[in-house]
Amino acid sequence: MTETVPSTTAVGAPTLDDGYARDLDGLYVPWRPSPAPAPAAVRLNTELADDLGIDPRWLGSPEALAVFSGSVIPDGTRPIAQAYAGHQFGGFVPMLGDGRAALLGEVIDRGGRRRDIALKGSGATPFSRGGDGKAALGPVLREYLLGEAMHALGIPTTRALAAVRTGETVFRDAGPVPGAVLTRVASSHLRVGTFEFAVRREGVIDRLADYAIARHYPEAADAADPYLALLRAVVEAQARLIADWMGVGFIHGVMNTDNTTISGETIDYGPCAFLEAYDPRTVFSSIDHGGRYAFGNQPAIMQWNLSRFAETLVGLSAQLPGPNGEPKGPDAVIEEMIEVLNGFAGRYAELRNRNLADKLGLDDPDPTLTEGFLTLLETRGADHTGAFRALSAIPARLAAVDSAGAEAPVTGPTTDRVDDPADALRTILGPGDTAALDAWLADWTAALGDAPDRLRARTAAMQAVNPIYIPRNHLVEEALTAATAGDTQPFTALLDVLADPWTERPGLDRYATAAPVEVTACYRTFCGT
Ligand code: AMP
Ligand code: MG
Repeated sequence: MTETVPSTTAVGAPTLDDGYARDLDGLYVPWRPSPAPAPAAVRLNTELADDLGIDPRWLGSPEALAVFSGSVIPDGTRPIAQAYAGHQFGGFVPMLGDGRAALLGEVIDRGGRRRDIALKGSGATPFSRGGDGKAALGPVLREYLLGEAMHALGIPTTRALAAVRTGETVFRDAGPVPGAVLTRVASSHLRVGTFEFAVRREGVIDRLADYAIARHYPEAADAADPYLALLRAVVEAQARLIADWMGVGFIHGVMNTDNTTISGETIDYGPCAFLEAYDPRTVFSSIDHGGRYAFGNQPAIMQWNLSRFAETLVGLSAQLPGPNGEPKGPDAVIEEMIEVLNGFAGRYAELRNRNLADKLGLDDPDPTLTEGFLTLLETRGADHTGAFRALSAIPARLAAVDSAGAEAPVTGPTTDRVDDPADALRTILGPGDTAALDAWLADWTAALGDAPDRLRARTAAMQAVNPIYIPRNHLVEEALTAATAGDTQPFTALLDVLADPWTERPGLDRYATAAPVEVTACYRTFCGT
């Protein structure tokens, strides 16, 4: 099969480097994707192609379609399947690897950064463990939507360059569904699980760690202990990522160590979902029975995952000279690493509190106000995104009320008022303890001050951190169901809305509205892209 795969020399085709394959022998097998019988493009990402230095005209060419479906390999590329291990739901699996993916190679983007281009769903590999190596159209489009939405929200993530149908039927629990391939772009596919695999083999962990440092954290190379510096950098990147996730209500759903990147990008959109009714215990994944990966557990789980990463670096660090010139030894290294790992919680809390202050329009973090608001949301089961967005509009309305010479009514009794600046928020929060809400609003508006210019600026700043449009589960589901049945219009429409999550546009109300609570309460997501 592999010999029959043609290559392309089409003008404009990207030249892919094989840096990973050159440097990290032992951590992959050369592997070609399987050709697709009848490829058809569903969506091509011209903006991303341009950013990658790929000719957008080539993107729409038959050659590109052949590449994105796994049927053709660009000239000179050495595609591979990467090896990795991983802790899945806490249990160690020594051999996972790309069971349905192929790394085509790397490009240097316009910003000078090396980016991986990989196919997902392109056929079985030596790591498939009985799986078919394929992907269904629905999950491919889910990863496309969610990844692009995260990018538009400013959150580090892998991205989607193309989604194509293969013309094949794949069989899933739900029955026969159309097969598809996602072309995924990542700043790398290095995972904690890659290190867990490497440390159990001869002579690769040092090359892998040096590769990760050079590719992602080159400044770590100059540290007295580059491996400790690598750990510190990954801890920082992941603390930022988790704070970002929590800020928008994102639940990854399957935070296994093989789905935890070294770069700090979100990867592997499987059973993920955005929460609507705010509750830290929220779980959507059908396989997460114990709630290990519940919304509120994500920071603690990341710290656990980073501990598994640290373990893979102990041996390297221990060989380095300590203050007395002798090798540091494992005991001293473990002590240093525990300190770095313990720093995760504090750093995460700092970033989370800063983010919540921004979301509430406050100059400085105020735990009483933020906890108070989150408690209001939780006790009322209120929509997380909608509530923060409704809150964002209030300061400008207060300024308008103020300049009209009226009493600012937000802190007054809730009856006898026509234009309460907090009306929209009250609607989203739904019925509940009115006194508690009024008391919170009084404290919050007091913290905002009453200078009209500053109030207007606060609304602008809050609307720049509190999105109006997120990939709501019922809309994602609706788009994927339609696409699976042959109608990609809802998918395209949703993707276009999510490209700008911050600016309210007319006619898009349904994209900003939570599903009825009964729908969300029963919502379940499934793995198996
Ligand atoms: P994921 O759930 O995407 O994080 O994947 C976990 C592991 O299962 C990885 O090693 C995947 O390559 C493998 N895997 C998932 N789905 C399939 C499939 N349909 N065929 C082969 N391997 C798969
Ligand atoms: Mg995975």
